[in-house]
Amino acid sequence: MKGSNPERLIKAYLRDATPYKYVSPLEALSQGAGIPAGEIIKLDGNENPYGCSPRVYQALSAHPYLHIYPDSEQQELRKALAPYAGVPPGRLVMGAGSDELIDLIMRLFVEPGDGVVNCTPTFGMYSFSTGTWGARLVEVPRDEGFAIDVDRTRKAIQEEAAKLIFIASPNNPTGNMTPVADIIELLDTGVLLVLDEAYCEFSGETMTELTGSYDNLIILRTFSKWAGLAGLRVGYGIFPESIVPHLMRIKPPYNINVAAQVAAMASLQDLDYLQRTVKAIVDERQRLFSKLDEIGCFQPYPSRANFILCRVSGNQAEDIYLELKRRGISIRYFDTPRLSDCLRFSVGKPEHTDRLIAALTEIC
Ligand SMILES: *Cc1c(COP(=O)(O)O)cnc(C)c1O
Repeated sequence: MKGSNPERLIKAYLRDATPYKYVSPLEALSQGAGIPAGEIIKLDGNENPYGCSPRVYQALSAHPYLHIYPDSEQQELRKALAPYAGVPPGRLVMGAGSDELIDLIMRLFVEPGDGVVNCTPTFGMYSFSTGTWGARLVEVPRDEGFAIDVDRTRKAIQEEAAKLIFIASPNNPTGNMTPVADIIELLDTGVLLVLDEAYCEFSGETMTELTGSYDNLIILRTFSKWAGLAGLRVGYGIFPESIVPHLMRIKPPYNINVAAQVAAMASLQDLDYLQRTVKAIVDERQRLFSKLDEIGCFQPYPSRANFILCRVSGNQAEDIYLELKRRGISIRYFDTPRLSDCLRFSVGKPEHTDRLIAALTEIC
């Protein structure tokens, strides 16, 4: 081999980076189980079982400008989104999923070695992104019921001189919310707090109002879950006004592609439809909870999102996960000490719940 062994040039803190644990693509699930993709029941990624608005497909097929670069300033989309988001367009920045915004926030604020507080167990992107920017992860475990331990968290922020803290509410994968009073207590430390409201449409609650009085609060949202656009990657953040120009300066110029923009615009024009599917999912969440509770070996945790985390008695969580997978039902198993006896079920359509419960009853 000629050359200079480029691997030795890789940044030291990225050489052994921990990869993100992503959900399996539909094609792989289909091949693994030997079942056509259309018959796989996918309850592992908190995706919307009703898909996106039919208007998205119409708008995409009618759009004449796929050969033209998108608007780097995202002007039309930010303007259309503002009334829905409840803030002026100048406070919004769009990302290729909120995942990209998490990465951009890190890019803007953290230097290698800076402390980033993470209240675990929670969404994997926060620790993943902290790692890729060489920042220092400060983990504060949540309590028994997965509530944030505010005193310990406040101490960690102060002692570690943390620059950022990430809090998902409702939290993924546990489904519970963090009370406003706790968020305010953490904001009062002065730390920059990123509140991830990816599931707020399912909880019916938002803390947007607090962004009027705290300039250290960022709220993240996404079209992936409620609007069924996970595959097109559209998320947004509500930022302090002073931060927006800085983010616009460092973000990749065309980060919202034309298809994503067209789809998000069409979704915002079909809110009635989308709100009906959200309601169907919230109703089904209640039914799924009762059914899981009835089986006996499951202890479901109450959820305000579109999924339910369940503790499984005995040592059988992983076996159940594998057995369901063989039957073409994909759910989420977490290979971590705190959650190794847990399973997470995304809320599907009623017929998905029925198939899932029938399979679980057989297996258990
Ligand atoms: C699914 C999810 C997201 C969404 O990420 P996108 O990149 O917008 O698809 C963000 N935060 C949490 C907590 C999630 O569970």
